[in-house]
Amino acid sequence: MKILIVEDVRTTLQLISAQIKEFGWQPIAVDDGEKAITAFHNEQPDLVLLDVVLPDIDGFEVARQIRAIEKPGAWTPIIFLSSRNSDQDIERGISAGGDDYLSKPTSQAVLSAKIRAMQRIVQMRTSLVVLARELDAANHELKRLSASDGLTGIANRRFFDDYLSREWRRARREESVISLLMCDVDHFKSFNDTYGHQAGDDCLRRIAISLSDTMERAPDIVARYGGEEFAIILPQTPRAGAQLVAERVRLAIEALNLPHAGSPQAIATISIGLATMWPNNQNMMQCMIQNADRALYRAKSLGRNAVCYYDAELDG
Ligand code: GH3
Ligand code: MG
Ligand code: MG
Ligand code: MG
Repeated sequence: MKILIVEDVRTTLQLISAQIKEFGWQPIAVDDGEKAITAFHNEQPDLVLLDVVLPDIDGFEVARQIRAIEKPGAWTPIIFLSSRNSDQDIERGISAGGDDYLSKPTSQAVLSAKIRAMQRIVQMRTSLVVLARELDAANHELKRLSASDGLTGIANRRFFDDYLSREWRRARREESVISLLMCDVDHFKSFNDTYGHQAGDDCLRRIAISLSDTMERAPDIVARYGGEEFAIILPQTPRAGAQLVAERVRLAIEALNLPHAGSPQAIATISIGLATMWPNNQNMMQCMIQNADRALYRAKSLGRNAVCYYDAELDG
């Protein structure tokens, strides 16, 4: 442990330094306030023993400056060692950032005991800081897990609901547009029946990754909506743009070339229903989901592996 000793009386400085060495600690001895601040900065001691009356700036000011240059979240114990020991001095010392205040001369036993007590607090504090960091990381992971789908690792339904609500409100505020793509794997029941559930899960994972990889703009997100359905939110995207994305997505799944004997093209494909809305007081978010669903239903009835845009006349 490095201990910075600030004391202008040479004999006292030597005496305390010798005592510190005797306890097995490493003393850094300085004899004025400016040197104390420089040494604190350069040596990064574990504890500071600080005199109050110094030839330049006083110990209280040194303590204040040390606290000001300490790294955020760091704490180095400061013990004042002074022959000035009125109640007011002690109060000023603690206010300036000191942690303890000893009267000079101090016995070697008391000095060592006080330093060890501070050491104990530092250790407890370090454990707490480590614990807080671990807790923070665990919270972060928990948050990530609560938003991601267990099977595919992409965003889950909960995240989808939150994200869509947020983007819906934003679009309403900014009088902007939002598009939604509902994607459903074609003939997936027969995929499971033919290849087994495990292979079905693998297929869903491959599709989820491919969908995510196909997104080009940061605000666009893919979520597993349920079973073999995926939803894609495209904020600030009008119909024409959304149709381009939908077609790119459909082709990307085709390009995976995943064998599917129960499908007319003998590979896994998806159908996509698309809806675009300008959120306002009349339009409801649920309505956009419903419209995308209806368009998806039409894509299925038209033969699957297709993109359909919601049309009030065709979809009712
Ligand atoms: P369509 O082309 O009309 O969409 O036909 P489909 O067979 O895909 O539609 P349906 O809704 O009848 O069946 C969906 C199937 O998806 C039912 C279920 O076996 C399968 N499925 C849903 N979730 C999972 C999953 O997490 N893992 C696996 N392996 N299969 C799933
Ligand atoms: Mg002095
Ligand atoms: Mg389905
Ligand atoms: Mg399906």
